[in-house]
Amino acid sequence: MTAPSTSPPILPPSVPLPGSLSGSLPGPTPAGSIPGAAPVVELVDVTRSFPGPPEVQALKAVNLRVNAGDYLSIVGPSGSGKSTMLNLLGLLDRPSVGEYYLDGASTALLDEPQRAAVRGSKIGFVFQAFHLLPHRPVLDNVMLATLYSGVPRREREERARAALERVHLSHRTNFLPGILSGGERQRVAVARAVVASPELLLADEPTGNLDKTTSGEVMDLFEELHADGLTLIIITHDLAVADRAQRTVRISDGRLTEVTHAR
Ligand code: ADP
Ligand code: MG
Repeated sequence: MTAPSTSPPILPPSVPLPGSLSGSLPGPTPAGSIPGAAPVVELVDVTRSFPGPPEVQALKAVNLRVNAGDYLSIVGPSGSGKSTMLNLLGLLDRPSVGEYYLDGASTALLDEPQRAAVRGSKIGFVFQAFHLLPHRPVLDNVMLATLYSGVPRREREERARAALERVHLSHRTNFLPGILSGGERQRVAVARAVVASPELLLADEPTGNLDKTTSGEVMDLFEELHADGLTLIIITHDLAVADRAQRTVRISDGRLTEVTHAR
């Protein structure tokens, strides 16, 4: 992919991407968003091809805008491109063609350390399989997410305790993950995802390993985080989970379409 020479300036990793870059973005401001504020996420004609052979176009000319404070769910059958999409949004992968603007700034020219820094400061991840360290207590699992943040240990611990309080797990800080229920483990993973105060939370099948009741608890938690102003993008097979978002898009064979909620 060749980046246009007119890309917004690339910032050093320590500098947050400013919303003020939005002034340079083309296109109308969508209804409901703050005038002049860039969308948190903007994909412009994004295609992701895996060379093969045979070549697979996992995403085909996808356009997507997600504004600050939005709550979006992404549905689609297995193999349709959902995780490919999440990897791109989380700066774990790059488009083959097209542009990804995060907070109005092009991500095309960011090198790996810059991408890691943006990930660390702006994006939280929650996965289906929790990915907790089994031999470390809950508090450590959450604290480890801020290990490279440059924040002193004492403050990291305070933040981790606050994140665990946010997910209603203050009474489990010294437990090992293995003795927690599935729902509690996923809540630890959510605490870990929000401990660095990201603005965007990406979740890939976050309720995939949970029963209906615990799944509901985790969804309640996402709703609380959304009410606090976090921008949420949740991938799910479960239409009941998808329906709790404000807005749903469907991916089918790499193509994205808007889904109109019945309500
Ligand atoms: P989903 O998450 O919706 O199940 P994925 O995004 O994982 O789908 O995959 C979309 C398509 O891209 C599938 O056909 C998959 O086989 C293919 N794919 C995903 N990752 C790779 C890769 N690293 N190399 C080759 N093909 C891939
Ligand atoms: Mg997937």
